Amino acid sequence: AKRSRTKRVARFEPEMLITNMERAQLEKDLLNAIANNEIKPFYQPLVDLETGEISGFEALARWNRKGHGFVPPTEFIRIAEEIGVITELSDHLLRVACLDAQKWPDTVSLSFNISPLQLSDPHLGLRILKLLNEVDFPPHRLELEITETALINELDTATEIIYQMHQLGIRISLDDFGTGYSNLSQLSHLDFNKIKIDRSFIDSFQTDEKRMTIVKSMLALGSSLGMETTAEGVETSNQLAALIELGCSRGQGYYLGTPASSEETLKLLETPHSR
Ligand code: C2E
Ligand code: CA
Ligand code: CA
Ligand code: CA
Repeated sequence: AKRSRTKRVARFEPEMLITNMERAQLEKDLLNAIANNEIKPFYQPLVDLETGEISGFEALARWNRKGHGFVPPTEFIRIAEEIGVITELSDHLLRVACLDAQKWPDTVSLSFNISPLQLSDPHLGLRILKLLNEVDFPPHRLELEITETALINELDTATEIIYQMHQLGIRISLDDFGTGYSNLSQLSHLDFNKIKIDRSFIDSFQTDEKRMTIVKSMLALGSSLGMETTAEGVETSNQLAALIELGCSRGQGYYLGTPASSEETLKLLETPHSR
């Protein structure tokens, strides 16, 4: 029943402008790309704002579709959900990401996005555990990013999955915080470890007083709950300086590092004080 939310009904999406034939071809190409391992994770640094060191990387899926160029991950992930292959795609990406991350220093963590639909899978925890065992990746180096909206929509399953993850030592990060409609009492039932402040707040908090107040209160909430706070979308030195001043623990964004291939990421890690 939960699946119905992702059905393509009564919502106008840009993809409706593409013809049925194009859509069918896109689905076919996506299935092939998954089967041929053509979709791979890139990695964007998460920087400790106290030390300036890279504390981890977020895996971001990239698909360079033959003859079309890069397809935005939001687009192909939604299609993968709609045609029922998100589990397969996500397992593939997590496996590759773990193998790549094993080449990093073991203090550097791996953040991985879980799609909303995956959260309705009661076996998610077990499957992740099995996969980590297969590739021999230590659970404490893994951090799962779950969006605020997904958590609230799947509150019961999410609560159970978060519990299972914590038993395994996997951390949970509340992604895109501030964009959903959760209230603090709902959130207080969920045991996550980190808060990621959505890019839309970082965009404008220096010029918009209300946004500044919200960012400050999110940071205060994080620190009073003993959670690390990450600011997304840090694009300027100005934003970085303000976030350090406000006591934000981590930053992520083009100013601090863009998503890069596994090879480039290794080079970045090998260069001393590379930023
Ligand atoms: P997200 O989890 O919020 O990821 C952050 C997005 O912001 C990424 O877009 C990243 O490239 C972009 N970004 C990072 N720094 C900056 C910046 O300074 N400025 C701007 N303008 N953008 C920045 P991307 O890679 O296109 O991914 C979009 C979304 O797709 C992600 O949002 C995430 O929800 C989803 N996604 C990506 N990879 C995966 C995946 O492997 N699995 C799942 N389930 N979802 C994924
Ligand atoms: Ca994320
Ligand atoms: Ca995010
Ligand atoms: Ca975001």
